Amino acid sequence: MPRSSSDNHARRPARSFLYSLKTKFIAALILLVGAVISLSAWWNLSLHTEHMLQATEDKVRALAEAIDGGIQVAMREGHTIEVQRILEGMARDPDIEQIVIFDDGGRIRQASKRDLVGRVMDRDRLSRYLAQPDFTVTGRYEDGELIQSVVKKIRNRTECHACHGTATEFLGTIQLDMSFGQTQEQIAGMKRAALWTMLLTGLALAGGGGVLMIRLVDRPVARLADAMTRVETGDLTAQAVCGGRDELGGLAKSFNAMVDRLRAARDEIEAYHQQRLARAERLASLGELAASVAHEIKNPLAGIAGAVRILAEDMPASDSRKEIMGEILAQIRRLDGTVGDLLTFARPGGPEVGPCALHQVLDRVLLVLAEDPSASNVRVVREYQSDLPPVLADGKLLEQVFFNLLLNAVQAIGGQGTITLRTARGEADVTRTDGAPLGPHLEVRVIDTGPGIPAHLLREIFTPFFTTKPRGIGLGLAITRRIVEDHGGWISAENLPGQGAMFRVCLPLEGSDDGTRERI
Ligand code: ADP
Repeated sequence: MPRSSSDNHARRPARSFLYSLKTKFIAALILLVGAVISLSAWWNLSLHTEHMLQATEDKVRALAEAIDGGIQVAMREGHTIEVQRILEGMARDPDIEQIVIFDDGGRIRQASKRDLVGRVMDRDRLSRYLAQPDFTVTGRYEDGELIQSVVKKIRNRTECHACHGTATEFLGTIQLDMSFGQTQEQIAGMKRAALWTMLLTGLALAGGGGVLMIRLVDRPVARLADAMTRVETGDLTAQAVCGGRDELGGLAKSFNAMVDRLRAARDEIEAYHQQRLARAERLASLGELAASVAHEIKNPLAGIAGAVRILAEDMPASDSRKEIMGEILAQIRRLDGTVGDLLTFARPGGPEVGPCALHQVLDRVLLVLAEDPSASNVRVVREYQSDLPPVLADGKLLEQVFFNLLLNAVQAIGGQGTITLRTARGEADVTRTDGAPLGPHLEVRVIDTGPGIPAHLLREIFTPFFTTKPRGIGLGLAITRRIVEDHGGWISAENLPGQGAMFRVCLPLEGSDDGTRERI
């Protein structure tokens, strides 16, 4: 019975959010895009930072050159006071910390901050400055702020010689300190912007990717899984609703088609089983009826046979009616046999189990068969494998099995031809009708040279009351199969190319008992 859908939902294991496809997809997306954005932001920032620092440094150099030029013009024209003004004017630039000009002795001669004028630089610092080349740019950090310091020596040029003589190479040194604070702030701002961009892009991707994932993958997969769970619990009416034309839609369509085919196959099997069941029920009641009819017939039949025998005995040997009496007795025997078959099939008697030598059983059957006039022209070939162990079985029932098979073979070849009896120890694995493996066994093959069994009838011949013979009752093979299976064995029929039919009877060997023998 298919379970209810709420039941199905209860059985489906809850998917962990951490391991869901959605989470994995979003995490991968964020990681990937995050890495790409970070790399490009880092690259852009580096380029920008480099450009900005270079621009600021160029500015410092240009300023130092401008100061040097300005001083020279002012000095040449004798406007020493102008130098001070130039420095103060330049220092209005918020990036410029201070500009000082000091002489060889380290005394500050001009400065953008007037209070510095006249101060003397300590010796160490002075000697450091003097030891440097004509133009040096150095950087230092003050409270996290980058200060670029340009030190430019003022060369004693020819036009200066008039006032300063030629004794010294340099007339003094310009020192310009410039702050990179603003540039640093701009860079920090750019970093913040890049960080926010990354964060917002990550969030947008996570949100957008999540929504897309839920719509395009999560929901269709959940619907598919739901339908699968319903099918798993036996509900073959389940259909996966995924309308998309993508791979999941295709998968859902294939799944639905598969379920449709399964349902059709199940309906077919159910119908077949119903049919078989109805037939089995019919056969069971028919069997019961046949058994009671057979029981009713058997006793009067024995009485009639006895009476006929007495009448025949009373007749003189020359009486022509004696032949008729013989024919009547033969027909009564045939009827008795049929009635006996009916009874065996409907109510099998209690078996007597013991070790049976298979070859002896077969020989006894062949002896009985030899007395049958219809078998007088049949050649029997015995291909017995020597040293076969005995099987645990009811010898009488086994005789009945092989008698039925041999009689059918004789009838199939029309009394003219060859029947081969081949015995062997079973080697290949054989599976019984109930699906269990047979294990070690003995095998008897009954092969005839008749027309064989039409392929479409191979499955039918073991069915009770199935017969193709005008005077047959179709119980021989049904009884045979029952006896073989009651012994824990297996029987099959097939056609041999170029020959007739072949029946294989496999009987388990002693020691391979799996409990089936308790039934015999
Ligand atoms: P019956 O002999 O009364 O017909 P069986 O159950 O013994 O009943 O056989 C059922 C059917 O199986 C036969 O009618 C026949 O069609 C087929 N059959 C059995 N043995 C052979 C055989 N050796 N060769 C061909 N057909 C066979």
